[in-house]
Amino acid sequence: MRWPLWILKFSDAILPSRSLLVYDNELPKKLPRRNLVLLRDGGENWSINMKCPCGCGQTIELPLIQEAKPRWSLKIDDGGLPTLSPSVWLREECRAHFFVKRGRIFWVKS
Ligand SMILES: [Zn+2]
Repeated sequence: MRWPLWILKFSDAILPSRSLLVYDNELPKKLPRRNLVLLRDGGENWSINMKCPCGCGQTIELPLIQEAKPRWSLKIDDGGLPTLSPSVWLREECRAHFFVKRGRIFWVKS
């Protein structure tokens, strides 16, 4: 079932920050519901993979490698919490637009 967006936003406000799980070479068969997955390849940060926080169920892949376009930059703070820039904006389907800062989702109002 799909949760209403306001419930997801509310639960994001009270649940712990999303953490960053690191995988080498291969993604887990099933992505976690909330946490972000950092895929590394040959010691290089390759991509961030996550389920869309709007609850639509789609998988989001954000390239981190220099050659990719568009690409995102990842910062990891002392507590291991991920910050991504720029924002994530899905132009199709759910059209979710949000920032990830210190493991939290900040929605951009449309
Ligand atoms: Zn979505």
